[in-house]
Amino acid sequence: MAEGHAVARWGDALRQVVGERVTTIKVPPRWSERAEQIRGAVLTRVETHGKHLVLHFSSGLVIHTHAMQYGSWQVGPIGQELRKEARFARLRLTTGRHEVVFFHGPVMEVLSLDDFAAHERFQSLGPDLLHDDFPVSRVFDALQQQGQREIGDAVLDQRIVAGIGNIYKSEGLFLAAIHPLRPAADVSVSELEVFFGELIPLMQTGRFHYGMTVTLPEDLRLEPWMRNWVYRRRGQPCFVCATPIEMFRQGEFQRTTYFCSHCQPFDRCA
Ligand SMILES: [Zn+2]
Repeated sequence: MAEGHAVARWGDALRQVVGERVTTIKVPPRWSERAEQIRGAVLTRVETHGKHLVLHFSSGLVIHTHAMQYGSWQVGPIGQELRKEARFARLRLTTGRHEVVFFHGPVMEVLSLDDFAAHERFQSLGPDLLHDDFPVSRVFDALQQQGQREIGDAVLDQRIVAGIGNIYKSEGLFLAAIHPLRPAADVSVSELEVFFGELIPLMQTGRFHYGMTVTLPEDLRLEPWMRNWVYRRRGQPCFVCATPIEMFRQGEFQRTTYFCSHCQPFDRCA
């Protein structure tokens, strides 16, 4: 699943190709006319924001992508062995040295700079927690405005904060001892500081170490399949207090939320 850290990692891989000239490009027929203007252009910049990834080209066009649940990127030398079947590629481009492939991603569009500037979904994104200047206070203000909306739902809203996916949501709330059903406006700025203080280094680690999303410290990982504090651990004992982990579904999209009712009390004074 593509969370912000995976997208940031793909961004790092794609930055190897910045400065190189595109020699071939294959996109779905809907975009092929515009993509002609990318052939011969130089990749000038790779931008990641939350789960969005944007490639900028010297001809003034951008390729905007969102991996959703299933999309993934592969960057390697020309002639590399593809990790997935070529027919699943939404975008395939080569330069003199590299081949770049975007598999399965549902959102892949070739836009002019004007279109991109007016792109509602991208331009309305909240601050990206993996950017250096991430402002917790701005997220706190946005959450205050959410009123009674449950915090476990609100932190997945990319307009409030960009980059948190479903695994990190449950793990971050657990580490900050925040019950996922608490109203967003009830969460204090110091609780949010703990939430992001725990989550950001975990996501940075996820960003730089290939593979699965691991949040559990090494000394608690008694088995290789033990990866998370609460995520997908319904009914198993909490690593801190041994209370069975609970799961329920939350928000418009009914995303699964895992939590420990003892470590994350609903009433902070309890
Ligand atoms: Zn517990």
